[in-house]
Amino acid sequence: MTIGIPKETASGERRVALIPEVVGRLQRDGIEMILEKGAGEAAFYSDEAYEAKGARIADRTAAFQADVVVKVQPPSDDEIALLRPAGVLIGFLAPLDQPEIAEKLAGRGVTALSMELVPRISRAQSMDALSAMSSLAGYKAVLVAAEALPKFFPLLTTAAGTIRPANVLVLGAGVAGLQAIATARRLGARVWGYDIREAVREEIQSLGAQFVDLTLDVGDMQDAGGYGKALAEEKARRQTELLVPHIAKADVVITTALIPGRTAPTLITAAAVEAMQPGSVIVDLAAPNGGNCALTRPGETVTHQGVQLFGPLNLPATMPVHASQLYARTVLAMVKEFAGEAGFTANFEDEIFKGSCVAHGGAVVHDRVKGLLAA
Ligand code: NAD
Repeated sequence: MTIGIPKETASGERRVALIPEVVGRLQRDGIEMILEKGAGEAAFYSDEAYEAKGARIADRTAAFQADVVVKVQPPSDDEIALLRPAGVLIGFLAPLDQPEIAEKLAGRGVTALSMELVPRISRAQSMDALSAMSSLAGYKAVLVAAEALPKFFPLLTTAAGTIRPANVLVLGAGVAGLQAIATARRLGARVWGYDIREAVREEIQSLGAQFVDLTLDVGDMQDAGGYGKALAEEKARRQTELLVPHIAKADVVITTALIPGRTAPTLITAAAVEAMQPGSVIVDLAAPNGGNCALTRPGETVTHQGVQLFGPLNLPATMPVHASQLYARTVLAMVKEFAGEAGFTANFEDEIFKGSCVAHGGAVVHDRVKGLLAA
């Protein structure tokens, strides 16, 4: 069996799907590894480092013609055309945002496994690429804010006087939000955290932050998978109103609120931004899903009445060494689960395979993706 690692070509993408150490492990299992020349370069993994672990350095076509192709970003049309029919593709495939990609992969006859859809069950924890990337994004979001804030984060007592610590508010306390809270605390800020899931109150507090209690009676907002549920329109409007005074007193707001498969909820209205002090900073990690702030422009930085608003699309790619390392481990776990020296086995009896497979045997096989395509 062969595994191909092409070079990522999406704008700004610096990650690579497998790093040399992981390549070495698969090679030892009898799998032939084919790397597109320079695929790891932007993440500081040289061709020589892959070669030393047994990979063959080849051209782009050879990497895409492997039995299993591993990628970070969803494939472009050109890349889909390079895949071997009846081959396997593993990567972030954006199945809920761009279901047409799954359809094109099905059209090519490819078996496609989407890292976004790996079910969050304990057996699949080692394959949880979303959590690994969210953690990097939460950390980096705080650094982006600290860099842009015209203030210190920590309390400082100096001969020239005392500097009060920055106030940081984190909206949405899933994986990214909790990492943002922990990072802001390490930098010495006073931190508040908020989530519609009451279950995270203790986690926020255990990181040394305070839980923002909005006295918004929403009931149990956690679904069976541990994700947040969408608020009804009236409650959502009330939520944005109740958040204003908390946003107003924050020097930095990091937002991470997402509902799987939906546009991100608006938590910060234009009026809330205008209530902040000039010089304050918002980093909207929900920007790829439309943003949690009404003024967010995905991929851009805007300044509104002195408040800087960042809408980054891919913070993990700004830390490509560790982002690639963590991502590679999740891909390795996935490959080991379903493939070996003898080849790849499509096993629809397996919860992880069934949950993450979007295309197989010429058809889109995932119910949710099928539903989106039908709509
Ligand atoms: P996510 O990225 O989908 O959402 C981020 C956060 O936004 C969530 O905590 C959600 O509750 C919150 N949110 C949504 N709408 C909101 C609103 N209107 N106001 C405020 N907050 C809002 O979530 P995630 O980070 O991927 O993880 C969600 C949960 O899944 C967490 O409890 C996490 O611990 C759990 N999880 C479990 C596993 C596992 O069991 N293997 C793995 C990863 C995460």
